[in-house]
Amino acid sequence: LFLPFLIGLVGLRNLGNTCFMNSILQCLSNTHDLRDYCLRNTHRTDLNNNCRAKAALMEEFAKLTQSLWTSSSSEAISPSDFKMQIQKYAPRFVGYNQQDAQEFLRFLLDGLHNEVNRVTVKPRSPMEDFDHVSDDEKGKRMWNKYLESEDSKVVDLFVGQLKSSLTCNECGFCSTVFDPFWDLSLPIAKTSGEVSLMDCLRLFTKEDVLDGNERPTCHRCKTRRKCTKKFTIQKFPKILVLHLKRFSECRVRTSKLSTFVNFPLKELDLREFASDNSVNAVYNLYAVSNHTGSSLGGHYTAYCRNPCVGEWYTYNDSRVSPMSSSQVRSSDAYVLFYESAASSRMKVIKILS
Ligand SMILES: [Zn+2]
Repeated sequence: LFLPFLIGLVGLRNLGNTCFMNSILQCLSNTHDLRDYCLRNTHRTDLNNNCRAKAALMEEFAKLTQSLWTSSSSEAISPSDFKMQIQKYAPRFVGYNQQDAQEFLRFLLDGLHNEVNRVTVKPRSPMEDFDHVSDDEKGKRMWNKYLESEDSKVVDLFVGQLKSSLTCNECGFCSTVFDPFWDLSLPIAKTSGEVSLMDCLRLFTKEDVLDGNERPTCHRCKTRRKCTKKFTIQKFPKILVLHLKRFSECRVRTSKLSTFVNFPLKELDLREFASDNSVNAVYNLYAVSNHTGSSLGGHYTAYCRNPCVGEWYTYNDSRVSPMSSSQVRSSDAYVLFYESAASSRMKVIKILS
């Protein structure tokens, strides 16, 4: 299979402060499985099965992805039809204001998911009591319950499950809660030097003491107690999106941390953050959304590893240029896209067989 133009090295025109959108679109366009979902028109099958869906956003997203990967010229493409649809779905994207790339990603994935959700009638099942089962079993049941109402290609790829454990400091009783996550927002430790991505993940999962007014009610003591809260990852997604919290607030940005966060391009091993340490949780980086400039004004670009040729490219609105993998790490990195090493290996086997 040799497709000379299927190389995805096409830029997106800036329609006026739309670099946040272009940056995320290029990261998603280089998400192998999502790209193929669009190129093979598989989304249409899901749309057909979902009669109540207004399919406009998914359709425009697929059209744009197809244009990026089948264009016979290297001329930049205008994402204006797509923008029309995303602002219908999320009116906050009307106009030409600079927006936050991570928030845009959340809205976009949510919008796409809703249109291709395989569940057409959400069940109204009563709250079940999972307290008599093991934590692992509870996690599985909660995940299956989530899939009963939210089940799509987007969920297959991006959604994982987080476990939070609350331990009573008085009696030692531990209660657990399981929640789906679409990305992880990681705090950056304030320091004068550089930090590592592992430092950020350790800060995110660090034990947190809830005391004073924050004291939760212990189910065994039947009263409010000082408790310790801790996060672990129960289920790892195929695509892990890590958002570095560089901005002190999302809506009204007051300051930006330009700390250099050192992250690995290959073999990010997250086993120490897993609920079950025997799982395989190794990831490889394939895209980064970067933000340069201050909290008041700035510019977004994307660095993506092309899934066909395996080389890195800079996507700066309409311009696409090759880059060295040694330049991928910078203090501009804002949203990191990792793919599970297990699923990339599967792909190689599929290609070779
Ligand atoms: Zn207790």
